[in-house]
Amino acid sequence: DGRARVTVGRPVVLAIAGSDSSGGAGIAADIRAAQDLGATLRFALTAVTAQSDRQVTAIHPVPLDTLREQIRVALQDGTVGAIKIGMLGSAAAIETVADLLARYPALPVVLDPVVASSSGRRLLDPAAMSVLIARMLPLATLLTPNLPELEILARAVAGVEPPPALSEQAEIMLAAGTKAVLAKGGHDRGDDAVDRLFQSGDGEPNHFISKRLPVAMRGSGCMLSTAICVALAQGDSLAASCRRGKSQMTTWFERMERMPIEA
Ligand code: PLP
Repeated sequence: DGRARVTVGRPVVLAIAGSDSSGGAGIAADIRAAQDLGATLRFALTAVTAQSDRQVTAIHPVPLDTLREQIRVALQDGTVGAIKIGMLGSAAAIETVADLLARYPALPVVLDPVVASSSGRRLLDPAAMSVLIARMLPLATLLTPNLPELEILARAVAGVEPPPALSEQAEIMLAAGTKAVLAKGGHDRGDDAVDRLFQSGDGEPNHFISKRLPVAMRGSGCMLSTAICVALAQGDSLAASCRRGKSQMTTWFERMERMPIEA
């Protein structure tokens, strides 16, 4: 009848995220990750940004009714198996996304808390932090901060300097509503890069360890959260999905290492 059909068995992920015109991060990274994993990526663009690897020069939010419509259409046929949330940008975008996602409580939501670019520009309006905490954390199946982001979020939730221990910072986030926290160790030091998964009501955290590789790749946080969503959409448990995402990231980093970008 001419209508497109979704292939049975092919995982479908919805990414709610911003664009990065340099191609490094944001939705382009999500598409690369999904493509490499054989998944379909639908996406709802939250903002258009102009960037180089060194600076963000413009941020243009997508109108809220267009954001809402992208999500509504993506979810209407029931094939999306997991949702990844990246750059939201504003309090209004957060409210819009939260209002819609509250209607899909069965879908796992991976929240990559995009606060700033590596080049240092804020990608989340500072006034929107409290809205992110109040509206998005209770909807999140998994929060995927790097260590600086975890500290910023824990400070924003607690209202005071957070305890230095990672586990205590993760506890603060669990108490604020996310069901799990994957604290990514990429910004740490040491021969190994260790990601730690803290789940509410769970005793010991899971550890996912890889050798630290001497490569920096923009958009790696975007790719990891999308890879975790692909595994979740295939029905893997949260811990198994984090393990698969981490090991996939190592493969992507190794590929980077073999293909240095020419100056
Ligand atoms: N731009 C957009 C639209 C993003 O979503 C992100 C991260 O998620 C970034 C920039 C930051 O990426 P990086 O840390 O690689 O600069």
